[in-house]
Amino acid sequence: MKLYNTLSKKKEEFVPIEEGKVKMYVCGPTVYNYIHIGNARPMIVFDTVRRYFEYKGYEVNYVSNFTDVDDKIINKSMEEGIPASEVSERYIKECKKDMADLNIKPATKNPKATEEIDGMIDMIETLIEKGYAYPVEGTVYFRTRKFDGYGKLSKKNLDELEAGKRIAIEEQKEDAMDFVLWKPKKEGEPYWESPWGPGRPGWHIECSVMSKKYLGDTIDIHAGGEDLVFPHHENEIAQSEAANGKNFAKYWLHNAFLNINNKKMSKSLGNFFTVREIREKYDLQVLRFFMLSAHYRSPLNFSADLMESSKNGLERIRTSAERLKNLLEKAEGPLKEEEKQLLESQKEFTAKFETAMDDDFNTADAISVIFEFVKFINIEAKEDSSKELLESFQKTLNNLAEVLGIILEQKEEILDEEIEKLIAERQAARKEKNFARADEIRDILWEKGIILKDTREGVQWKRA
Ligand code: AMP
Ligand code: ZN
Repeated sequence: MKLYNTLSKKKEEFVPIEEGKVKMYVCGPTVYNYIHIGNARPMIVFDTVRRYFEYKGYEVNYVSNFTDVDDKIINKSMEEGIPASEVSERYIKECKKDMADLNIKPATKNPKATEEIDGMIDMIETLIEKGYAYPVEGTVYFRTRKFDGYGKLSKKNLDELEAGKRIAIEEQKEDAMDFVLWKPKKEGEPYWESPWGPGRPGWHIECSVMSKKYLGDTIDIHAGGEDLVFPHHENEIAQSEAANGKNFAKYWLHNAFLNINNKKMSKSLGNFFTVREIREKYDLQVLRFFMLSAHYRSPLNFSADLMESSKNGLERIRTSAERLKNLLEKAEGPLKEEEKQLLESQKEFTAKFETAMDDDFNTADAISVIFEFVKFINIEAKEDSSKELLESFQKTLNNLAEVLGIILEQKEEILDEEIEKLIAERQAARKEKNFARADEIRDILWEKGIILKDTREGVQWKRA
């Protein structure tokens, strides 16, 4: 199994630190809003990486954090006049809901920055003791030049970096390249007590601390979007390796951006769709399928056309699965002699799928193999096929889909748009005193897990 390591800029054979185990850390979102579909790309991609390791028999310890203290969260809390913790708690809850809808397996652990402050203070103290950090008037800086390996991930050179920096830096820093580990409290902001006075951590330290606490000093895989390579991951390496005296992560995996009109989708550019918005129009399995239709290191441009073709592609696979299910209802008996060679052909599809995934998780090729397999099933699964053959087809198709986290069983999921339409129809029926139809619509919605509430402001609905 080969994976592309940003650290070596090469595809390398995966060799776990501990036999049969994978320790994996994925940088999670900053929670000040609903997640957008750009944020969903690393979630889907690295969940698929995890699933493939599990398919291969590894036990995966998967840790992904929530950054729940940050300027953007604080700004939002000030706008809304509520505590920052209320903002972050709200969006952690919403994010988990989106992740469940995207069929992302729950992490082994989702640590939150605000619950790990003691660990961060400890690591900063260690860094100061070892001479890698220094406090100045309530701020603690990392002494970047002291760490020899700085730049090894992003292939940046400190002198070039420094030349690019304008010198309007805070004068209290020893060097323009030093970065913040701890910053002093500002009026109205959340803060914690520390040996350097009340304040809050810089962004990078949380991941070094959580990764160490939940996975150990050295982990197998550290992952995130490619914008994190510099400075976030470079700084994480510096902090962790300086504090622990050990290699931080063996393999660094980075997904390329999800773009829109060939520009990075981001909150700051305002060119984004939230996962919630997409959910109004599509089953989120379509979004997942769309994300995996490209290799994770290739940029992916979001468009309605591509979403439509993903929808059709997924539909094709689901139709085949549905047909197998129907055939199985009547099928009987063990494998027939003439079917034996079909099982051999089936093995080839599985082998090809694995070859694609073994090559740095090439989900695009893996999906092509599933399409070929579906074509094969559509030809070879017949009314008179044996039960054993059909079950074997079904099992293989399910296993391959499961690796990608694609649910084949079509849920009778109702979209927001359809709900609104039915509610409008119910209102119209009531106006015409057609209460039978109004009740019928309520029941239809109820069966689909939608609960209606008549209020003075109109009808409200929620999913059960
Ligand atoms: P943030 O909330 O900005 O810290 O981002 C959380 C994760 O989403 C990080 O791994 C980012 O690299 C990733 N990310 C943000 N925007 C995009 C995008 N447009 N395409 C792919 N990944 C993204
Ligand atoms: Zn991180």
